[in-house]
Amino acid sequence: MNQSILVVGAGFSGAVIARELANNGHQVTICDARSNVGGNCHTERDKQSGVMVHRYGPHIFHTTDTEIWEYVSQFTTMKPYRHSVRTTVQSSVYSLPINLQTINQFFGKTFNSDEARAFLADQCEDFQAPQNFEQAALASIGRPLYEAFFRGYTIKQWGCDPTEIPAQVFARLPVRFNYDDRYFDHRLVGIPADGYTALIQNILDHPQIDLQLNTTCTAQDISDYDHCFWTGTIDSYFNFIHGRLGYRTLSFEMARKAGDWQGCAVMNYGDISAPYTRVTEHKHLAPWEDHNETVISIETSKACGPTDTPYYPTRKLSERDQLKSYVDMAKAAPNVTFAGRLGTYRYLNMDTCIRAAIDIVAAYCSAVTSGSPS
Ligand code: FAD
Ligand code: UDP
Repeated sequence: MNQSILVVGAGFSGAVIARELANNGHQVTICDARSNVGGNCHTERDKQSGVMVHRYGPHIFHTTDTEIWEYVSQFTTMKPYRHSVRTTVQSSVYSLPINLQTINQFFGKTFNSDEARAFLADQCEDFQAPQNFEQAALASIGRPLYEAFFRGYTIKQWGCDPTEIPAQVFARLPVRFNYDDRYFDHRLVGIPADGYTALIQNILDHPQIDLQLNTTCTAQDISDYDHCFWTGTIDSYFNFIHGRLGYRTLSFEMARKAGDWQGCAVMNYGDISAPYTRVTEHKHLAPWEDHNETVISIETSKACGPTDTPYYPTRKLSERDQLKSYVDMAKAAPNVTFAGRLGTYRYLNMDTCIRAAIDIVAAYCSAVTSGSPS
């Protein structure tokens, strides 16, 4: 039986949910508070230079899931892209993630792989099961590298001591004992040729999808529909009854420059004395394009106030009970499914959002078919 469904949020999660529902014959209304689709992946061309700008920070599509790569490739041309990042620390420029080049340069050595591994092992601290970011870092790379490359950056990024951050955040970056400086280990890495917004517009281009931009929804809006998929913040759906969950927001100071400004797409700034975390030079995220001018954005992280755009769920260790209260309410709420980075209050990459979106719609459609949608 075909259902009338509201999808809140037209980022990657909401768009894929809407498309999968429409492909299954359901009638979908998708709303977004913003004037464009794409959520935090939104890209737009700078009018003067023509450079494709990643409005909410640099986004690189990386996955091991071939099906997901093929899924997005139906809607765009995915351009293969090699992401390597540099970081400025203590007046020198290093390669990230930590690799043999970083180790040798930082310690003034000429180690081979095994020598570097043994050298770092001596500096590592023994935490069998690291309980936080700092312990995970000290167990993996030791104090000198942690203090130089991670401690200051993490304090700036998360606004708290690294001991308050889950250990898994450190695990997002590999540590390598060779000269491979690719930021991501994944086999499939690319960027859509015409940016993410065009890709998401194509996903939403379906006769059974009604897109409403500049439209903010609340929990009250779902009563007109058989079901709602909510990709906004989970705490806002419940009107912050257990208080506001923590998010970090970002601010970007944009500037146009001539030529090539920093010679790479992303330069991080590890020292606590640098007020910003990183600088993105957007044209290097589309190396297949040619532009004389260049656009940079200087990124600064801060606590997210009630009117700011939420970017990163902080998931501080101290927020566990509060989050559990919301998750329990979400499980009990009728006719609504929470999804996406904000709806599940998780750090999710784009490929994971898409996989989750496909899977939850498949589960929903099979429940509808068997007569038991919740
Ligand atoms: P969002 O993109 O946040 O979309 C949610 C949408 O819902 C928004 O458009 C919002 O306006 C709308 N909305 C919210 N509440 C309401 C409401 N009440 N009514 C109407 N609309 C509402 N992932 C990668 O795979 N690779 C990367 O390189 C990468 N880099 C990143 C860099 C940064 C700086 C950040 C912050 C994230 C990065 N990510 C990256 C993660 C990526 O941004 C997310 O995976 C993706 O944006 C999640 O999509 P989403 O649809 O779940 O959420
Ligand atoms: N990080 C750091 N220094 C860097 C880059 C990353 O300390 O130069 C830390 C920071 O805490 C970040 C985490 O490592 O949140 C994971 O890195 P990633 O690039 O995945 O950062 P994010 O997606 O959070 O921006």
